[in-house]
Amino acid sequence: MPDTILRFAPSPTGGFHVGNARTALFNYLYAKHYGATLLLRVEDTDRARYTDDSLKTILDGLSWLGIASDGEPVFQSQNEEAHKKAVEQLLASGNAYYAYETPEEIDVMRKEALAAKRRVHYNRELTAEQVAAFEAEGRAKVVRFRVPDGDTVWTDKIRGVQRWGNVEIEDFVVARSDGSPVYNLAVAVDDHNMGVTLVLRGADHLSNTPKQIMLFDALGWDVPEYGHSTLILGNDGSKLSKRHGATTVTEYQEQGFLPETLFNFLALLGWSSGDEREVFSHDELVETFSLEGMHTRDTVFDLKKLTWLNGEQVRLRPVDQIVEDAIPIWVSEGWISEGDVDGRREELTQIATLLQPRLNTLDDLRKTGYFFNEPENYDEKALKKHWKTDTPERLAAYIDRLEALDSFAEEDVEGVTRTLAGELNMSASKLIHPTRLGLCGVGFGPGLFELMAVLGQETCLRRLKKLLEVAG
Ligand code: GLU
Repeated sequence: MPDTILRFAPSPTGGFHVGNARTALFNYLYAKHYGATLLLRVEDTDRARYTDDSLKTILDGLSWLGIASDGEPVFQSQNEEAHKKAVEQLLASGNAYYAYETPEEIDVMRKEALAAKRRVHYNRELTAEQVAAFEAEGRAKVVRFRVPDGDTVWTDKIRGVQRWGNVEIEDFVVARSDGSPVYNLAVAVDDHNMGVTLVLRGADHLSNTPKQIMLFDALGWDVPEYGHSTLILGNDGSKLSKRHGATTVTEYQEQGFLPETLFNFLALLGWSSGDEREVFSHDELVETFSLEGMHTRDTVFDLKKLTWLNGEQVRLRPVDQIVEDAIPIWVSEGWISEGDVDGRREELTQIATLLQPRLNTLDDLRKTGYFFNEPENYDEKALKKHWKTDTPERLAAYIDRLEALDSFAEEDVEGVTRTLAGELNMSASKLIHPTRLGLCGVGFGPGLFELMAVLGQETCLRRLKKLLEVAG
């Protein structure tokens, strides 16, 4: 069997939309799982909207996600000659024709077609005199494809048999009045020239597929296979857009999501393994992926799930990696300096070990300043809730006990806390909550006794005495 050749064909006209990233991912997973070739084609023919920045964003996003393609990227703008040749071939074979209708005429024709519930009929059979008159008038002309009668049918690799009545499809433009080819023509020509055998893309391209198939047929080329995944919807059921929140890979990257999370999450937007499993590593996804698992029902982009999944992926990282992730964040917050890192690696590893089970995103590491600095103030709500009239007295007793400890290991701290609570005949939480507030300034964080062991006796005592002074 000849090799399967896939392509990912982004248009660099804006950010790297998660829908495009998902298309790239499905192509990549297919290529890796089934052993196919994945080519990258940059669709840069829309020069008015093309930007170098957008191309860079897409390429950086692909490499951040770990989606690699084979060979050098193809730039669509370099295939102009082939596009023009195909247009000429279509004209020569009678599969396309010059159309001279003006925008105003087309407007009227469209209204008539709508009223008659049929497609627009362009003048396919102009006489030589009509053509000469239009040319003399200086009218602009476009090249339109002569849509044949009948149906266009393909067996979609994801959706099964798709049948489009050609009668629904009007003679579409293949070359504009300046001679430049339009999207559908350029894609068909490039897919052919690149030897593409399977086009995997989003459902938003479904209506382009019959047109592209007709072009392949008219040009006498083998038609590739097609597979269309789902649309991605926002939580209100409409197509995912900016009003639902972040829609680009870069935004999620900037929010501290891990590449392996996005990789995992995007795969689940329109595919499932068939069992309940949702957390996958790169290699597990490559292994488990199959076309049979692709969905046909549209998929909701669930931010809560993305956040949850990120936590799961954070926990799959080795703790040394979390330390590496945290260092630039802590340096940028001014809590540690680059020069400290080597000398403090053990302490930083202890902190990371404590935090890892609780992180949702790497950005959460920005809320961990209490490991490095004394809190400057105390969360008012938490203070109100946990600071009672007898708290100062209890805390003072607790400070004495902590001061007397020879070893400040987690179990020792826990032991002394529970003993004192027992002696005072109260729940340990009456000590735990105010202590956490004194140490962290906030009412949440890692398990208190582990935290105290990492902060050390001196720091804990200093902070608790300060709280007593300020609040007591
Ligand atoms: N450039 C098109 C897009 O970004 C994709 C073309 C295709 O997959 O056929 O939507």
